[in-house]
Amino acid sequence: MTALTNLLDLDPQQLVAYCGELGEKPFRATQLQRWMHVFGVSDFGAMTNLAKSLREKLTGRAVIVEPAVISDSTSHDGTRKWLLDVGRGNAVETVFIPEDDRGTLCVSTQAGCAVNCRFCSTGKQGFSRNLTTAEIIGQLRMAEFALRKTKGVESGPKGERQISNVVLMGMGEPFLNYDAVVRALKLMLDDNAYGLSRRRVTVSTSGVVPMIDRLAQDCPVSLAVSLHAPNDALRNELVPLNRKHGLKELMAACRRYLEYAPRDAIMFEYCMLDGVNDTDKHARELITLVTDRTNPVSCKFNLIPFNPYPESGLKRSKHERVQAFGKILLDAGFITTVRKTRGDDIDAACGQLAGEVQDRTRLRERLQNSREICTPTDRKLIRVVEEVA
Ligand code: SF4
Repeated sequence: MTALTNLLDLDPQQLVAYCGELGEKPFRATQLQRWMHVFGVSDFGAMTNLAKSLREKLTGRAVIVEPAVISDSTSHDGTRKWLLDVGRGNAVETVFIPEDDRGTLCVSTQAGCAVNCRFCSTGKQGFSRNLTTAEIIGQLRMAEFALRKTKGVESGPKGERQISNVVLMGMGEPFLNYDAVVRALKLMLDDNAYGLSRRRVTVSTSGVVPMIDRLAQDCPVSLAVSLHAPNDALRNELVPLNRKHGLKELMAACRRYLEYAPRDAIMFEYCMLDGVNDTDKHARELITLVTDRTNPVSCKFNLIPFNPYPESGLKRSKHERVQAFGKILLDAGFITTVRKTRGDDIDAACGQLAGEVQDRTRLRERLQNSREICTPTDRKLIRVVEEVA
């Protein structure tokens, strides 16, 4: 028996090709895509402007399936987190951060992560697998329509869009799952899907240089780089990928990317680790790095107070230290923000946390006990994305 195709795995071009194989014209693909991504419909029978013959063909060959929600928690400040089942005992987290002028969704791209940054609990849990396009775009689809339902906003183009910005900063290194990520990006940007502006979609990387260049050609969106250190010796320790693609190479790639990027600056993320990378000297070294005469990079800085976890052996920089570090950058003319703490009464993730996902054995137990799934007991301080888009 032929496996059913999950249509959420297909980007706009692929959906046209798929419909072509069924003997259908390209406009049918547009209609189908709008049902899936603009109206949030998964039942072919409800797609009333598709010919009955096409609906019948699809029913036997295709499905529309997004990851199942294991838990759904909302913080007192409106931050909402979903834990999603991505099969075989794996789960990923998706976080929505509402603000006055925007709603940002933080999306995961891998179950676990192989990069193993020293300060990151997702890295410590190891790599399980890449998410499919359906699992990546499915996070946006699930969240957009769940938020609309909660607010009583109708689906379709007339209903007010809830998610204005997407950041690929959840679990995983997006560029190590490049093809699936780019397909999902194309859907995020497509007017017959989510219609987000390139400026409002941000990919965050730990520095996979060849893929920075590829993204510039394939689908340039806003770029954030997890920098965390101003020199190779320290960055080799904190972000092991630096041993393969050192800072000189990374800065050059950032500069090249800016020729195609929808924004005129790269966002450098810098996790503030007490006594490790947070001295005045480090701040000045950072300025030297990005203003290098032969390789200057137009950039902004986002300082992230570290969220400690027991195995890391690292501590969060003191508030005054973060302020002093930020002031040096500001005084040198760089836009610098400090990431806010949000949603401190639910368990969530920001690309550095694995939260409930860390222990997959525990997750299996939770899957068997739906009451526990819906009432997470761990109460951790969460740091969520504040800036970027
Ligand atoms: S910080 Fe990002 S790239 Fe590094 S281990 Fe964590 S998820 Fe992976």
